[in-house]
Amino acid sequence: MLNNGIEMPALGFGVFQTPPEVTTEAVRAALETGYRLIDTAAAYGNEREVGHALRLSGLPRDEVFVETKVWISDFGYSETLHAFEKSAKKLGLERIDLLILHQALPSRFELTLEAYRALETLHAEGRVRAIGVSNFMEDHLSALLEVASLIPAVNQIEVHPYFSQVGVQKADAARGIVTQAWSPIGGITSYRGGGSRTFDDPAIGQIASDHGKTAAQVMIRWHLQQGRSAIPKSVRAERIAENFDVFDFELSTAELDILDGLDTGVRGGPEPEEVTLEAFGREIAEAV
Ligand code: NDP
Repeated sequence: MLNNGIEMPALGFGVFQTPPEVTTEAVRAALETGYRLIDTAAAYGNEREVGHALRLSGLPRDEVFVETKVWISDFGYSETLHAFEKSAKKLGLERIDLLILHQALPSRFELTLEAYRALETLHAEGRVRAIGVSNFMEDHLSALLEVASLIPAVNQIEVHPYFSQVGVQKADAARGIVTQAWSPIGGITSYRGGGSRTFDDPAIGQIASDHGKTAAQVMIRWHLQQGRSAIPKSVRAERIAENFDVFDFELSTAELDILDGLDTGVRGGPEPEEVTLEAFGREIAEAV
């Protein structure tokens, strides 16, 4: 349950880096498996294919919770109102369940605030059911809440056993904001290369084998039992099913503590303070 009374499924499906040509099939498989929350973004370039999968599924519109994100290049009041129009049209939806700002733009925070004000307008007009943010750190939340009239329903941040951002999670919880974990099974520790991968972690592996489950399933359970939303991504049918098969076991407090203890403090994604229009800005196409 979000802070505005809207229900959002805790476990969802992500499509970052899912190429448009396989997105429809991946989302179709996810909906067939039982996922009812789909997380996309204007910047992922696959909103059209997500919308296509929704229609193919034949599911009633109100049974699927659709979340998308406004990219920083579209920040500003009128720009963000227009970003909604672009996303809604690509998705083929009149109303978006959850619309969030993809990043804070610390060097142009006034644009971030204007973008959020546009989300508030869209919410007041009933065009979005809930609004939120992503990659907001404690200071961004504080600065936003000095002027915002609506508390964000969700803050989507990087959370996996190797980087759990406990401080941000606490700041979210203190304000009634749901923390939604991106890279919830540590995908970023894998596809970014370099260091060790959560999937190969011996402690996670031990807990998994004790339950007859996989490392991914243990990590998803960790999120759910700690009250976070999680949106694992896969393009493979067997993993899409595996990541949803997490409702028949429970981690003990001791196991949750072990997972909490794996935090390395090393961020996988971009440093939020270093996100600038110069470095990350890029045009989000019109829907046409
Ligand atoms: P995830 O933690 O979901 O991991 C996905 C990666 O792990 C993929 O490489 C996938 O490969 C692989 N994988 C999936 N399931 C399994 C499994 N059961 N066993 C082993 N490997 C598996 O990482 P993401 O970064 O994709 O995060 C999930 C979602 O969060 C994104 O899709 C997006 O919606 C959102 N996100 C948001 C960001 C933001 O800034 N707000 C940033 C990053 C992500 P394969 O597909 O081949 O199975």
